[in-house]
Amino acid sequence: MAGNGYSAGGRPVTARKADRPVAVRDANPEQTGPAKVGVLALQGDVREHVEILTKLGVEPVEVRRDEDLRGLAGLIVPGGESTVIGKQMSEAGLLDGVRSFFYKGGPVWGTCAGMVLAASATTGERQPLLGLMNALVERNGFGRQVHSFEADLEVEGFERPFPGVFIRAPFFEDVGPGVEVIGKLGERIVAAKGENILVTAFHPELTDDVRFHEYFLREVCGI
Ligand code: GLN
Repeated sequence: MAGNGYSAGGRPVTARKADRPVAVRDANPEQTGPAKVGVLALQGDVREHVEILTKLGVEPVEVRRDEDLRGLAGLIVPGGESTVIGKQMSEAGLLDGVRSFFYKGGPVWGTCAGMVLAASATTGERQPLLGLMNALVERNGFGRQVHSFEADLEVEGFERPFPGVFIRAPFFEDVGPGVEVIGKLGERIVAAKGENILVTAFHPELTDDVRFHEYFLREVCGI
């Protein structure tokens, strides 16, 4: 395990400032400067996330290969097309790469297509999934008629509703143990959180509201 930026078993080697999941940065005491947060950059809304991360004072890293995951304090899997992203991840060896980042405690946030990829199972046709979250996803769950729409969402832990931009959005049909539902649209689960994972069915990167990015950095990455 030596030299790969992780401590054995994913345990933090330094005391954490709060009782939160292990951020990889904690196991990387030699790292100085702003925390690095990755954006999977194979397809989809990469630039928008990079811009917001920069604005929030962390260093964005575009992730295209396994090596790019080293030393990251978190990883965003953006919206786009989950079948395309999954196939490209598989070709780049990144399905296993991201799984191992995650299982060593690396914080992950999946938005829209990223939420589909994070799920452990889909109601639809088979496609490559990361399977990071104990959940059954309905891809394009809001149906063909409503390709895109906006809705103000009540989100657990947010004082004011969040402007949800939904574009051919998925929802979770069901979640298993260890998954906390933090946002619903009617009966549909559109935001959820696990120990070191966050998923949103909508696109916070397409709004001017940076509260979800701040939430990910604070609550999930522990930055
Ligand atoms: N429905 C798309 C998919 O399954 C996701 C759409 C999006 O990310 N805006 O990949």
